[in-house]
Order: sequence, then C-alpha cells, then structure tokens
Amino acid sequence: MNNNLEWLDDLNAQQRQAVVHGEGPLLVVAGAGSGKTKTLAYRVAYLISRGVPPERILLMTFTRRAAEEMIKRAAAASDRGAHMTSRVWGGTFHSMANRILRMYNQQAGLPSDFTVMDEADAGDLMNVVRHELNLGKNDKRFPRKGTCLGIYSRCVNGCEMMEPVLTRHYPWCLEYKEALKTLFTNYVIRKQQRGVLDYDDLLLYWLQLLNNEAMAREIGGRFDHVLVDEYQDTNTVQAGILRGLRRFNTNITVVGDDAQSIYSFRAANVRNILDFPQQFTGATVITLEQNYRSVEPILETTNRLISQSRERFTKDLWSARREGQRPKIVTCKDEAAQDRFVVERILEHYEEGIPLHKQAVLFRAGHLSDSLEIELTRRNISYHKYGGLRFLEAAHVKDLISFLRVVENPSDEIAWFRVLQMIDGIGPATAGKIIAHVAKAHDPRALKTFKPPAAAKEGWADLGQLMDDLVTAEEGNPAAQVQRIRSFYDDRMALRYENAQARRRDLEHIEQVAARYKSRRQLLTDLTLDPPNSTSDIAANPLKDEDWLVLSTIHSAKGCEWDVVYVIHASDGCLPSDMATDNDREIEEELRLAYVAMTRARNFLYVTWPLRYYQKWGSYTDKHVYSQMSRFLSDEVRASCEMVSCGTSGYADEMDQRGGYDIVEQVRRQISSQWD
Ligand code: ATP
Ligand code: MG
Repeated sequence: MNNNLEWLDDLNAQQRQAVVHGEGPLLVVAGAGSGKTKTLAYRVAYLISRGVPPERILLMTFTRRAAEEMIKRAAAASDRGAHMTSRVWGGTFHSMANRILRMYNQQAGLPSDFTVMDEADAGDLMNVVRHELNLGKNDKRFPRKGTCLGIYSRCVNGCEMMEPVLTRHYPWCLEYKEALKTLFTNYVIRKQQRGVLDYDDLLLYWLQLLNNEAMAREIGGRFDHVLVDEYQDTNTVQAGILRGLRRFNTNITVVGDDAQSIYSFRAANVRNILDFPQQFTGATVITLEQNYRSVEPILETTNRLISQSRERFTKDLWSARREGQRPKIVTCKDEAAQDRFVVERILEHYEEGIPLHKQAVLFRAGHLSDSLEIELTRRNISYHKYGGLRFLEAAHVKDLISFLRVVENPSDEIAWFRVLQMIDGIGPATAGKIIAHVAKAHDPRALKTFKPPAAAKEGWADLGQLMDDLVTAEEGNPAAQVQRIRSFYDDRMALRYENAQARRRDLEHIEQVAARYKSRRQLLTDLTLDPPNSTSDIAANPLKDEDWLVLSTIHSAKGCEWDVVYVIHASDGCLPSDMATDNDREIEEELRLAYVAMTRARNFLYVTWPLRYYQKWGSYTDKHVYSQMSRFLSDEVRASCEMVSCGTSGYADEMDQRGGYDIVEQVRRQISSQWD
C-alpha cells in the first residue's frame, strides 16, 4: 500500500472529503463543471491506492468513452500505473450487464450464445410479431414499430403499468391497449425462443438475477465498491440493479446533477438522485459549489438560464475564473449567415491558437448541422460528428454485422432476414421458412438441407459455402471472418446501394477494428453495445497531428467540455424542439438541455439563431418563415450576454419588412408553441 497522497492536493475540501470517504453510501450532487467526474476518477485512484483490488471496483458511466477517460484520469492522478487501473470493471450499465450475463447465463436461463439486438432490430422484430398476429391489419393508425418499442421500453424501464404510460405519453394509442398487450407478450416470448436480447432485456435480466438472494450475494460480492457517474440519467431498473448489488455491502458512490437530467424520454428518473438518501440509508451527501470549468461571465449566464427551472435541487455555482468574454447571442439573417458566422469564429479562434478539437458546435437534433457540414466541407475544415445517425445504423454496416450474428446465434431471425435478403429469388415467406429450419437445427450450416426456390439457386450455394467457412473459421481471428464475409458481400452491396466506394471504406474499417479482437463474440458485443459514433471513431491509425472540429447533438455532449462552444439553432421550435412542447414537463427538460449545452463552454460561448428559415418544400419559390429566439433566452439571460446581429440590418428592421404571409405563419407558430 502506498501512503503518499500528495496527489489529492489538487482537490478542494469537499471533493477531497468525497474522495477519501470511507465505507457506506455517498452521494455527490452538484452543478455542471464542479468536478464531479474528476472526484469520481480520483476516488477510484484513491481506493486502489488503499489496497482495494481494481477488479473489485465497478465504475458505471454513460458511454464507454467516458469510462475509459476516467480510468485514464485515475491512472494519471495516482502513482498506480495504468496496468492496475485498467483492471477496473468500467463501462455502461448495458455493457456491464452483458458481461455479467455471459458469466451467469445459466442462472439467468439464457443460452450461452445469446445475441444482443440494437434498437432498429428490436423494432423490426416487433413488426414481424405484429404482422404474424395480424394486429392492426388495415388500420393505418395502429402505432408504428418505433412507437410500439417506445411504449414497451418506457413500461419496462420505468417499471410502470401500460395504462398510465399510454395516458401520459401516448394518449392516442390508448384504444390499442389490448392489442399492444398481446403484441408485447408475444414479443417477449419470441425473444426468449430465439435467444436474443434487446437493450432493455440486458438490464431486466441483470435485475432479475439480483432479486435472487444467493445471486445478489454472489454478484454483489464480486465488488467492494460501486461507483456511478451521471446518476441523474439512470432509470428505475438501473436504480434497482444498484440496490440489488448493494444488499450485503453498502459501498456505493453516485454523482450527478438533477439540473442536467435529459433522458426522461428513455425513462430516466430524476427521482433516483433526489431519493438516494432514502433508498440507501445512512448516505452521506456532499455538495460542491465551485465551478472550475467556465469563466465567470459564462457561469453568470448559465446560472440565470437554469434559474428558470421550477424544481431544482443543486445550487448555483461560483467561479474563480473572473476574467473572460461575455457569451454572445447572435441573431443571424438566415441559416447561411449562421453557418458563415460560426465558421469565421472557428477560424479566428484557431488563428489565436485554439485547436479545432477544443471547439465544438452543439445542436438539439442531428439534422440541424446539415447545412453547416456543407460549409465546413467547402472550407476544408475537418470535423467529427457525434450523435444523430450512428455509423452502426448504416444499412451496409448492419448487413455485414448480420452475417457475424447468424453464425454466433443461428436462431437470430432479424439478422437472418437481412442476410437472406441478399440472395435474389428469396421472398419474405421463404425467408421465414428458412429461418425456422435453421433455428431448429441451431446451426447455420443447416441451410444446406433446405431446398431453395429455383430462382435462388446460384446465390444459395455461395451463401452455404460462406456459412461453412465461417463456422469452421479460426475462432480467435474475427478479422479473417470479416474478410471472408466481404468477399461474399462486396459485389452484392454495390448492386444494392449507391456510393459503394465510401461504404467499402466503412467495411474495411470494421475489418481493421476486428483485428483488435480475439473473439467474434467480443467484437459483436462492443459493436452493439458501445457502437462507435462515426467512421473516424474507429479509424485504425489516426494521424497524430490530425485536428478536427467536434459537431455533436446536445445529448451526446453530456459530461464533455471545450474551450469554445457554439450552440446553433437556438430558436423556438429547435430549442425547445417543437416535438417537445406539449407540456411543462417536456419544456423543463428542454430547458435542462439548453443548460447542458451552454455549460460545456470553458472560455467562449456563442449562442446563434437564424431569423428566418427557407422552406425546404416548394423549392422553386423563395418562401421563408420567421423564427423566434429561444424562449429560454429570457430578458435576464440576455442581459448577461452581448447581443449581436449578423447579416441582418437589425432585428427591428427585419420585423418591419415582414410580409402578410409571414405574419400568418408567425402567428401560427407562436400559438402552437405557447407555454401552456
Ligand atoms: P458535468 O456536470 O458537466 O459532468 P463535472 O461536475 O463532472 O461536470 P468535471 O468534468 O469533473 O465536472 O470538471 C470540470 C473541469 O474542472 C475539468 O476540466 C476539471 O479538470 C476541472 N476541475 C475540477 N475540479 C478541479 C479542482 N479542484 N482544481 C482544478 N480544476 C478542477
Ligand atoms: Mg461529469
């Protein structure tokens, strides 16, 4: 044991108290940038330095990247090397669940080769079941697969009955309650028959395991300490898992900020953090008050912003970083002016010495950066985009992964559907029969004993050969398996999709990634549970001197910080999103999103909004609609900022010039986005 604890000196008194906290539950609750994540990382380092074996520490974060980052910080902070800290169990709740379920699959009643479906596949399976049951046939209003999955997921993650969930979130689906019950019951049975789990199942099975006292003793007994970051965004099932894990040992540390709770649409429950002291009796509660991230003028603005929230637990913060530029709220003539403004500032700051990767552009929804991306490309500024459509959601990537999945779990029907679609001459009905046939044998080579339709003969033999090769391939070399799949798939892909060249590069990337893995299962697990956000995320050998700008949805920016932050499209309808202005609760969450976005900034903050949007439809006309500045930029918030206009002759002039058409449009928009 090493007793030299000088490295704790770069913490303040409260942080230090949390880091050296002894036994029993601990809650650290504090606003953005107050060092919660840093405290947690130091606590990991501290525990290890006190002799806790790293493999007996469980650290749960919102993304794998965050866990890796914290473990690196822990290694850097203490004098214990990375070889120690890397043994910590770190990752998301879902990936930890997967790891546990692989170890205890028998006790959980799961086959050893179960596979995990992503959301899109879960939606497809829901649809298959729905069609088989003939539910909502010829009824165009029957909820779509995404909605069905949303309802299902809310019920299971929130541990709620269907009726209140429907009443509150999906009132238009109430009339389908009985049909949905049948659908969900069958969906669950189907997953169990096929040995596939959706994301929610990972958590549910883990929770069920822990409900058994002996298992709770066994699994909880693996860990001396459990630590959780971003606790405000956990749901009821996750809170239950933590209680289960800590039935016989109460060492648990959670940190979070209720003002940053932004995942209630995924059934996250901010009550988890507020009720922690009741759920874990004897909990110590520590609050942090100093913000180390942002300069004082930015903090002043973000404090004013969040003060509009009706219900808040965490207190305002203060900053010792007194000097700094006030945030700028920039009214732009239109989207093009907004793009120009942002790009010019990026280049200016770059010239001043702030590299691109220390600057980030944030937006409410993935598509809101479309036009900026064009401008960045035109100006040769490289960028990485986080959030929005993920790499793994691209059709060709899903195709390739489906091949691996059917070999891993020959009963995985959604993966089989994708694979079989690649063979000409096989329709959905035949595909269904083939899948049943293969699932019965639980061996992909059983394709050989199925008589294909005559039209499918050619591709059929190739597919059979491919399955043979994959099943007999060397287990420890998944890259070779990906290569073999590509030799089958490349030409077929080029026939099916446009842009074959770019897609081929993606597949090459997967092959390179696969080379880092020793088993197909581990590769699949990581690709499904911690998917890379963009192609560049998984580039094998990133150039050392490469620099890129960060584009991110606000949701994906959680926990991060940059020297310069641009929050774009801060107009009503985008932030708050007009998809989320039905009631106070939704608007409150949008306000917290705005807070998360603006609190990412260290030194410079720009909040921009275009005064008018050109309508995308009726492209030969020049119609545009006027927007409103985000309602969250209240008088108080604006008073703490510098107001700037860009490309306009001034807001007032623009208002005067509005034509009759726009006024009508304006009134419509305003009424539809009233507070109440
Ligand atoms: P968020 O709520 O956004 O997740 P957080 O509370 O987790 O924020 P951190 O990300 O841990 O905050 O810290 C914010 C910044 O402040 C980081 O750059 C961190 O290194 C720095 N910081 C935290 N505590 C201290 C300290 N005691 N001294 C100096 N810098 C600190
Ligand atoms: Mg944090």
